[in-house]
Amino acid sequence: MTDVVPAPTAWEYAPAPESRALVSIRPRYGLYIDGAWSEPAAGERFATIAPATEEHLAEIAQGGAEDVDRAVRAARSAFPAWSCLPGSERAKFLFRIARILQERAREFAVLESLDGGKPIKESRDVDVPLAAAHFFYYAGWADKLEYAFPGRPRPKPLGVAGQIIPWNFPLLMLAWKVAPALATGNTVVLKPAESTPLTALLFCDVLRQAGLPAGVVNVVTGDGRTGQALVAHEGVDKIAFTGSTEVGKAIQRALAGTGKRLTLELGGKGANIVFDDAALDQAVEGIVTGITFNQGHVCCAGSRLLVQESVAEQLLAKLRRRMETLRVGDPLDKNTDIGAINSAEQLARIKELVQSGRDDGATIWQPACVLPEQGFWFPPTVFTEVAQSHRIAQEEIFGPVLSVLTFRTAEEAVEKANNTPYGLSAGVWTEKGSRILWMAQRLRAGVVWANTFNRFDPTSPFGGYKESGFGREGGRHGLAAYLDLGEGADAGVGGLA
Ligand code: NAD
Repeated sequence: MTDVVPAPTAWEYAPAPESRALVSIRPRYGLYIDGAWSEPAAGERFATIAPATEEHLAEIAQGGAEDVDRAVRAARSAFPAWSCLPGSERAKFLFRIARILQERAREFAVLESLDGGKPIKESRDVDVPLAAAHFFYYAGWADKLEYAFPGRPRPKPLGVAGQIIPWNFPLLMLAWKVAPALATGNTVVLKPAESTPLTALLFCDVLRQAGLPAGVVNVVTGDGRTGQALVAHEGVDKIAFTGSTEVGKAIQRALAGTGKRLTLELGGKGANIVFDDAALDQAVEGIVTGITFNQGHVCCAGSRLLVQESVAEQLLAKLRRRMETLRVGDPLDKNTDIGAINSAEQLARIKELVQSGRDDGATIWQPACVLPEQGFWFPPTVFTEVAQSHRIAQEEIFGPVLSVLTFRTAEEAVEKANNTPYGLSAGVWTEKGSRILWMAQRLRAGVVWANTFNRFDPTSPFGGYKESGFGREGGRHGLAAYLDLGEGADAGVGGLA
């Protein structure tokens, strides 16, 4: 028996598109090195497209080893003056950057949605405000570094930070990396992802507006080869990487024995665990957010739903009903819940893994929804009858695809949740506070949300265990990743009880 009423038909809304005229995209972009735009040495370029329409947006420079070298040299020469500025002066630049991001928020939101395919309500309400919040937060730390780590009163910046970011949160990942690096007195060479470079390139204009000294932040666009050149460059003191576990492992191998510092934020296969005493309607909202936020292109997505057997049928009925109401379509429409898949390659990967789920014998369910003909799209998808051994229960799909498993006891839930090579996120839904704490102590995940999911805050450290990486971004912990704390200090997570 369930108390579920038939699915309501989703209200028909008139189109409510955000204006594209808010952004002006140049036909071609260069590299931002030493405070100025320059052409890539080899003259190579590639296109960035809008995944929702496959429209060609701009020609992007493919930075090569020579360009990376120029950027690292610029960052190196900017380092002495930048790192010697009083923290309160560095803070002023960060505050300025934060305020300009707020002032230009609509422009950034539209550009992020165009280039990446995410719904405007997410780029407008999450990506851009959180990016500004990161700059505000780390601006506050810049003149207080000597108090951040008790017993270590003279933290020093590392030097030049090479930062490589993925395509799922282009501006936000930039902010997670650039803000703490600048607050701690480092200079930066940033390599955005090849499918979503436009907001990082617009950010260069913010740097110019903020009057940031030349060379403090350099942006070199390009694909994996550009990233590789940055990792291999001898003038880089630290690499901060967010991306796939496979590339993270290759970077760790490349840096072994070099003495360069490294933080890795990698993939995940988060478990969203619902107990029978949970508020089920509230849990349904968290499950939907957990798997459809940013089309499921989220490292900490709740891509495995673990539901207590006694409420599984009831919860799944409510979940299906809720999913029937999701709107898939134009990312620039303010009513859109699920936008476009970021690229043709990512769509092919989602389809391949979904096919493996079918082949392994899991049961697939998708709401009735009409997908646009042009562009890259995938409907929200729920798999039941999933076994732990199935690829859809083990591998990161990075799309709006949920795998449902059941459990009987809390011990079984912990065992199943931890049965993954990853360890980035988990969610626990229950009325009992004691059970939340009991679970949180046992789940091997960098973040455990209780009765909510996918909540982020600059004051809260974020990072993984196991194949999800090491090091923390955000909060006081995020400062340590860019500081030499002196003899005996573990610059990763340790030393920060
Ligand atoms: P990816 O590893 O393919 O690419 C990430 C970045 O690395 C891109 O800028 C890419 O150009 C660059 N790159 C590729 N090959 C490289 C190489 N050999 N050396 C140096 N740089 C190289 O990942 P992706 O597909 O862009 O992003 C999706 C992945 O990112 C997912 O696995 C997701 O879980 C992960 N991610 C993790 C977090 C986190 O905080 N843990 C956050 C967002 C995304």
